[in-house]
Amino acid sequence: MIRVGIIGGGQLGMMTIEAKFPSLPVEFVTLEQSADCPAAPISNQFIAGSLKSETDIRTLAEASDVLTWEIEHINVEALVKLEKEGKTIIPKPSVLQTIQDKGIQKQFFQQHNIPTAPFALCDAREITEALLSQFPGDQIVIKTRKGGYDGKGVAILTKAEALRNLPFTGEILLESFVPNALEIAVIVAIAQDGSHAVYPAIEMYFNPKSNLVEFLFSPARISPELERNIQAVGLQCVQKLNSPGLFAVELFLTENQEIWVNEIAPRPHNSGHHTIEGCHCSQFEQFLRVLCGAPLGDPSLIQPSAMINIVGPDNVSGDYQLANETKLTQDGDVFVHMYRKAETRPNRKLGHATVIAPTLEALLERAEAVKNQLEIVAK
Ligand code: ADP
Repeated sequence: MIRVGIIGGGQLGMMTIEAKFPSLPVEFVTLEQSADCPAAPISNQFIAGSLKSETDIRTLAEASDVLTWEIEHINVEALVKLEKEGKTIIPKPSVLQTIQDKGIQKQFFQQHNIPTAPFALCDAREITEALLSQFPGDQIVIKTRKGGYDGKGVAILTKAEALRNLPFTGEILLESFVPNALEIAVIVAIAQDGSHAVYPAIEMYFNPKSNLVEFLFSPARISPELERNIQAVGLQCVQKLNSPGLFAVELFLTENQEIWVNEIAPRPHNSGHHTIEGCHCSQFEQFLRVLCGAPLGDPSLIQPSAMINIVGPDNVSGDYQLANETKLTQDGDVFVHMYRKAETRPNRKLGHATVIAPTLEALLERAEAVKNQLEIVAK
């Protein structure tokens, strides 16, 4: 029996636990602040504690054979110490040190000649017209270096707005605005023996206000050559991290058909949720295979699949329910995953729906109809 310790008890942990299969002897220990989290009810053991506390992470480590995380904003120094003491941690803590800080991540891309949008690092107080003029166009992207997630910590502003009123303080990343980019993700698994599996490219659409992924599907509408190149770039940058793990690489396909890496997530990712029903081996099962040293599964698509995020609307707070759930799923081509979150808040990820169809054309049509029927209402 392998005991997997997961730092974080959100929906990614929950879906990882749900992916266990009978021939893999595995149990789960979860660390999260409160037992009122998605993963706790299905964990074999739950530890209430802080993701930032060395003591609490040590308690989790003692209860598990292999340690991992489902969220980046955790105590990486504690993981570095535990690794030195011989604990198996996947991915390696060094991966988190590179990725936790978006500035260091961009420098990592630069050092390894991984194409990425031009950038500068500075303190928010140091923004000047001269600095902004180094970037093309009227718009500029400003990101907090640490602690951002789900579009929080990302602002797309005109240069005039950035000079007048910056939404962030402290260390920031300035990035060239990539206009009219197609946003693509690839999920890459690296096994403990170094073998790899790369999932088909995913085309993603974001909410322009929240910068949160709203809708995605795979296969992406790109040529086979671009697909190969994107998969190669995704694999290349993950391999440079030099660690086993399950990673999502988010990329921009620019107007000139250049591939620029935006960021790497060192864990299962929202961009891979469609793989549960859409692929032979889901990103979550693949993650478990990596953690337990089992052979990697087949990442290919069974059929075209799309995912729609179910997020908290602006006008509902507290107790909630999804309207029409039974009607939505009755034809067998729509799968709803709700994350057991007790309360809704604006833009909070509450669940997702996956749609499958025999052709991409049919998929996009069906997904559009499903999108319009997904409604969170007060209970
Ligand atoms: P997070 O880590 O919160 O997911 P990202 O850096 O991935 O933040 O940014 C979220 C979204 O904001 C991106 O998927 C994209 O839609 C938009 N965005 C981020 N950087 C840029 C950029 N340089 N140019 C254009 N859009 C961007």
